[in-house]
Amino acid sequence: MRTIGLIGGMSWESTITYYKVINERIRERKGGLASAKIALYSVNFAEIVDMQKAGRWDLATEALAQAAKGLVKAGADCILICTNTMHLIADPVQKAAGVPLLHIVDATGAALKAKGATKPLLLATRYTMEHPFYAERLRANFGLDPLIPDAADRDTLHAVIFDELCQGIVKDSSRAAFQAIIARNAAKGADAVILGCTEIGLLLNQSQIPLPAFDSTLLHASAAVDFALSEAPAFA
Ligand code: GLU
Repeated sequence: MRTIGLIGGMSWESTITYYKVINERIRERKGGLASAKIALYSVNFAEIVDMQKAGRWDLATEALAQAAKGLVKAGADCILICTNTMHLIADPVQKAAGVPLLHIVDATGAALKAKGATKPLLLATRYTMEHPFYAERLRANFGLDPLIPDAADRDTLHAVIFDELCQGIVKDSSRAAFQAIIARNAAKGADAVILGCTEIGLLLNQSQIPLPAFDSTLLHASAAVDFALSEAPAFA
């Protein structure tokens, strides 16, 4: 079994999900007492959020590149950045790591395409919805036509993610607000929903969403398990 390197803590609320789901899926596939080989580097999220707010993606790149190198030293055979937002700097982190970086957009995009979705609604932080890195990759690698919520809805999503979910606060009123955003965008032609922030699964699951939902955290964690259990390197 190969070792999975997790850059977590963004926020730790969702890193718990990664740790749990990866181990559950290893047990499902290998049985008995089998568990995942995981190296975890968990950051101080407050420092990363300060860099995000200041637009200092250069500093964030340095921080995550150092984390990736530490994980490789600890034996990681691949790296996962356990947040959608920080994939904004996935390319330089991948270069610094020198091992495969399993990209959250690729895990999510492949699942959308396999299920025949074409126009998925992207629910995420403002960074993920407004910078091109996420939607562009869905278009370029998977031929999808992502739908981005309007400015007022982006504000709501961003505020709930940082002021509530990343702090372990789950409110019925916020769930209802997210469901209203989904309904508005279903009327605009969305045929699927991307839970494109690793904490959204703490608020909403498929049974509460009328369209097919794609939880980036679960799909990313599954990609890590596939990698860990594959014999041949997944990347050249
Ligand atoms: N975990 C969130 C995401 O998937 C947001 C936290 C962050 O800004 O990294 O985008």
